[in-house]
Amino acid sequence: MPIDATLPYDDDNIFARILRGKIPAKRVYEDAHALAFHDIAPQAPVHVLVIPKGRYVSWDDFAATADDTEIAGFVRAVATVAREQGLVEPGYRLLANVGSHGGQEVPHLHVHLFGGRALGRMVA
Ligand code: ADP
Repeated sequence: MPIDATLPYDDDNIFARILRGKIPAKRVYEDAHALAFHDIAPQAPVHVLVIPKGRYVSWDDFAATADDTEIAGFVRAVATVAREQGLVEPGYRLLANVGSHGGQEVPHLHVHLFGGRALGRMVA
């Protein structure tokens, strides 16, 4: 069910448990700021989720409360994962769902990275 992105951070959310190594994930990248792993229900030939290591419910929470080093580190990590997946050419799509109207289900910020085929026009 989509979440209310203004709620406080829940340390038991599924991505927090993946970060702590309590739940397995097919990890593809990790650095000081971010972890990336394959989505369990891929919507494209490449569907990777990139999450910050800090406790941020959503994109909105991250932008408002993370420090500049974390924000820069996370943005660079997303680009690095896309590069390492071989997607820069011919390209890829990034998506961050925020809150209930955005369809966000997991209350830890995650950026979806899609690629591996022509994705077509984005329809909201
Ligand atoms: P939506 O499910 O509407 O895309 P989100 O943007 O919150 O909402 O995305 C959550 C994503 O997390 C989904 O794509 C889902 O398949 C994925 N997911 C859920 N549990 C796991 C898990 N244990 N490992 C990897 N991906 C997961």
